[in-house]
Amino acid sequence: CRKSAMDIEQLARDVCDGNRRALARAITLVESSRDDHRRDAIALMDALSHTGKQALRLGLSGTPGVGKSTLIESFGMMLIREGLRVAVLAVDPSSARTGGSILGDKTRMELLSREANAFIRPSPSRTELGGVARRTREAVALCEAAGYDIILIETVGVGQSETVVAQMSDIFLLLLAPAGGDELQGVKRGIMEMADLIVVNKADGDLEPAAKRTCADYSGALRLLRKRPQDPDGFPKAMTCSALQESGITQIWEDIKFLTAWRREQGHFDARRAEQAEYWFGQEIRQGLLAQLDREPLRSHVLSLTKQVATGTLTPSGAAEQVLAALRHDTP
Ligand code: GDP
Repeated sequence: CRKSAMDIEQLARDVCDGNRRALARAITLVESSRDDHRRDAIALMDALSHTGKQALRLGLSGTPGVGKSTLIESFGMMLIREGLRVAVLAVDPSSARTGGSILGDKTRMELLSREANAFIRPSPSRTELGGVARRTREAVALCEAAGYDIILIETVGVGQSETVVAQMSDIFLLLLAPAGGDELQGVKRGIMEMADLIVVNKADGDLEPAAKRTCADYSGALRLLRKRPQDPDGFPKAMTCSALQESGITQIWEDIKFLTAWRREQGHFDARRAEQAEYWFGQEIRQGLLAQLDREPLRSHVLSLTKQVATGTLTPSGAAEQVLAALRHDTP
């Protein structure tokens, strides 16, 4: 049953008032791929686009087992003690392929999940990364409209998910474990270049010396990167922490606040958000076009052309031109 426009307005108001159930319902709506839900979701996002509320969006990436949930728990609880409202969202690329989830475990962040000022939402399952990206981006905007101060967007270091999270974050943290050997854990250069802070976790007990060594290695590697205009001296930065013993957590927060304040003053904060909006606009168009190819009547058309290409009746370019022409004629 299709919701009336009135319901969407009410939902928008409830989200804005900080009603958690309304927020959860709104996220469920933006997760849906049904056409009528999508229309409602767009109307909802539109209604909420002028609230003027702005959260700090923190991206956090790290391989499974590195300590992401432990860090989110201790970092999130510290923010709650400071009187801030915290939302946690996840981009989980595993669910697209396997239907299983690396990040969806319900027992994660036990303390934080009981806080009235925390909102935790696992990644939806069975969605393509493109779909997860849109849903997460819209969920971020919904949490922002609901008045959360800090939005943590978590992902595992797999495939494209880091880029997706970095493109919707103001600050991007890469979480690492102490390295056993002296290699830099195979962290790709591109990912290091996205990071604002590299945090080596588990700097406690027997692992502390290794964590310090790893941190020093990354500090060295970061100094070799080209200086980015959006960074004050000393950034991007490598540091250690123990999420388990809650040491180094305050320092991470201090650095995040310093970097954010600096970027705001210099205009980089708003510039980055503008660039991100442009990027997602482009992505939405591309995905929308691709989705049309999978929809009737184009789908059947493409299938029959594919056969003709295979038998040599049509050239690949000629057949593609027919599809593109059909797309052009479909435009308003
Ligand atoms: P995630 O998969 O990245 O979310 O990692 P978890 O937070 O679930 O942590 C994986 C394992 O590492 C758990 O057994 C944690 O107790 C442990 N762990 C997390 N943080 C620390 C830490 O700071 N020090 C130590 N020694 N262990 C930690």
